[in-house]
Formats: sequence, structure tokens, C-alpha cells
Amino acid sequence: MTDMTEPEVQMALEDAHAILTGHFKLTSGRHSDRYVQCARVLEDPALVTRLARAIAHRVGERQVDLVAAPAVGGIVIGFAVAQALGVKFIFSERENGVMTFRRGFDVPEGARVLVVEDVVTTGGSVAEVIELVRAAGGVPVAVAALIDRGGPKAFDAELFPLLRLQVESWEPGSCGLCASEVPLYAPGSRALAK
Ligand SMILES: [Zn+2]
Repeated sequence: MTDMTEPEVQMALEDAHAILTGHFKLTSGRHSDRYVQCARVLEDPALVTRLARAIAHRVGERQVDLVAAPAVGGIVIGFAVAQALGVKFIFSERENGVMTFRRGFDVPEGARVLVVEDVVTTGGSVAEVIELVRAAGGVPVAVAALIDRGGPKAFDAELFPLLRLQVESWEPGSCGLCASEVPLYAPGSRALAK
């Protein structure tokens, strides 16, 4: 398994436009000079494979029987990590707002499960998957993610992020980029933000 250093991961994610640099209006209304759009990684299957191998390398000697990921963000990278580890893969999804394993997916009793997500901030979805795994009689081994955006976590498992990325944000009134009249971009909408 090939490891990647954090600068290598950051460069790869920037090249893939999964991490953007500029002037952004976040959904919170705050402004930032960074924006994470992790799905862009999926445009490059070879990169996903490389990142998944790096995650498998970080997880190292820990015995893993199964990878579980929350839909939608964790599905592709979770599948790729399972492939790199040579184990099975399942994903969870919300049904009426409640995280659950559907489609006949199941956690065998005693299975050692690695939970994989693309981006973890508080890790709310990851915490729900961990509870699901425990409820099914599985053993959550650790959590792996492409990006940890920092801050306290909603889960108590060991976390292996490929990249730790603190995205700072601030109120529009105290935005230096606004003051410098840098065009503001609102990701998710096609137009430049006002
Ligand atoms: Zn601004």
C-alpha cells in the first residue's frame, strides 16, 4: 500500500478542484477563502484508487473485516478503501431521516468494521454509522476520511484523515476579500454571488 503525505494529498485534491481557493460565500452566509467540494475527486477514478490505498496504508495493521460508509459522500471512497483492503463493503442511508442499512446490507456478529467518509467535520453521520454497527453486533475499529475539517467530533473512535484542513470563515462585514473587491463566488449556484 502506498502512503501519501498530507502535502501530496492537498496538492492532489487542489488539482482535482476538490479544494478551491478564492472568495466564497458559504451556506452559512459567512465568507471564506477556501471551499471543499470533495465529489470532484470522483471525476478521477485513478486518484480515488490512490487515495484509497493511502487510507489503507494509514489503517495499517488493524484487522478490518468490513468497510461501512454513509451515503452519499462515503460510498465511492468507502468502496475503493474496501477494494484496497480486500474486504467487503456496505453503505448506510437515511430512511425517514434515520440512518439505516437497507438493500440487504448487514454487519456480521463480531465483524471488525472500518467506517469511511469523504469529509468529516463533527462527524454526525459517522457517529450514526458507528451506532448502527454496534447495534448489529459489529466492532467499530476506526474511522477514515479524506479530509478532517477539524473541531470536536461526535464519535469516540480513532480517526485517520488523509488531510487535516482548517477552513476559516468570517462574517461578510469583516471580510478582507470583500474589502479588496475580490469577486465573490457562491458554490452551488452558477452565478457570482452579490
Ligand atoms: Zn467576502
